[in-house]
Amino acid sequence: MSVRTRFAPSPTGNVHIGNLRTAIYNWLFSRHEGGEFLLRIEDSDRARSTPEAVQTVMDALEWLGLDYDGEALYQSTQLERHMEVAEELLRRGAAYKEDKGGTGRGEAVVFRMPGKDVGFVDAVKGRIEKKAENLKDFVIVRSDGSPVFHLGNVADDITMGITHVIRGDDHVENTFKHVAMYEALGIAPPVFAHLPMIVNAQGRPYSKRDGAAYVGEFQAQGFLPEALFNSLALLGWSPGDDREVMSREELVAAFELGRVRSSPSQMDMTKLLWMNGEHLKRRGLEENVAGFRQAMERAGRLPAGTDPEYFKAVVACMGERVKLYGDLGEQAGFFFDEGYAYDEKSVQKRLMKPGAMEVLREELAALEGLEVFSAESTESALRALAERRGGGMGELVHPLRVAVSGRAVGPGLFEMLEVLGRGRVGARVRRTLERFGG
Ligand code: GLU
Repeated sequence: MSVRTRFAPSPTGNVHIGNLRTAIYNWLFSRHEGGEFLLRIEDSDRARSTPEAVQTVMDALEWLGLDYDGEALYQSTQLERHMEVAEELLRRGAAYKEDKGGTGRGEAVVFRMPGKDVGFVDAVKGRIEKKAENLKDFVIVRSDGSPVFHLGNVADDITMGITHVIRGDDHVENTFKHVAMYEALGIAPPVFAHLPMIVNAQGRPYSKRDGAAYVGEFQAQGFLPEALFNSLALLGWSPGDDREVMSREELVAAFELGRVRSSPSQMDMTKLLWMNGEHLKRRGLEENVAGFRQAMERAGRLPAGTDPEYFKAVVACMGERVKLYGDLGEQAGFFFDEGYAYDEKSVQKRLMKPGAMEVLREELAALEGLEVFSAESTESALRALAERRGGGMGELVHPLRVAVSGRAVGPGLFEMLEVLGRGRVGARVRRTLERFGG
């Protein structure tokens, strides 16, 4: 039998990383098995399931490249089918009608638990069981005629021919109910796989208080879809070797349900950032230049008319220091802004030191005399100057860095000088001298 999985989100307007991870595992598993991955929109709660909320789900799937087979199935179109299943359960004596609350306003349909223990073999957790005395009958159709989650969920999985239900840990309790319903209908239940909870550093369920939790936030921060995909794939699963940075194709090839862990998985933003940097490296300079440019433009930090070659040189110069498109502005904004701010501490430490202004003047003279203005030539000029002065390079490097960038950290000084170029460097050192030279 060929594998059919589905992602069955209830559209609420946001897509939490837990749901995304569920979608990713379903997708990876079915692609690995050469099966199908379907989408079902559980939009029975009409109030919350607005078209915008559905679109948010669609956008998230598209961004991550989670293509689904066929058309999406909207649960709200399946009411008749749900009622058929309820009727079938009534016919089989596995459900009964009851006037809940005795209001006389109509009867609810209640599923009758089988009076025996219910269990199943979870593909992640192994066999789990629940004792008969802990299984209570439950409503499947409300007295207003609307189906309850359990009925729609099971009926739709049957309709769609789902073979594997991969979903969050929080559904285990529901699954006992669902397995009992399949058994009552005389239908073999699908394989269930419950994914471990995603937790924060304290081991509690990861929520928006812990940081970015919704797909839109990661997008807005400039994370690459392949990095988020890769990181979420590793939240509860690993390939069994020491690989961590993996493309979607590599993940598809390696994914096995049997390797999903049952213990909680900790969401780690530092790791995600590292992963993003690794995927930036995989993308290469050209693609990254475009990504950084877009992020800078969106943040309004790229002056109109910025020379594309200059921009590219800045990106190359920053190299692996910037791990996120959205961070270039913060880390390298000074390249594009002659009104860059001076970091107060760095000024105190490097420019207010006795003799610092004199050093800067000598450096300016040494640099201005250069025929070629490159990383090599500026470095040898300053080395020569250091020798003449009889001090170390540190005396020259630190104040110059603060003078041309306003800060004490950044890319290699000489590469930075070359990218900024003679004109900017000269103007910046002069401006610094005027401002702090008294
Ligand atoms: N709509 C449910 C949810 O988002 C579906 C659960 C399932 O995958 O069966 O939690």
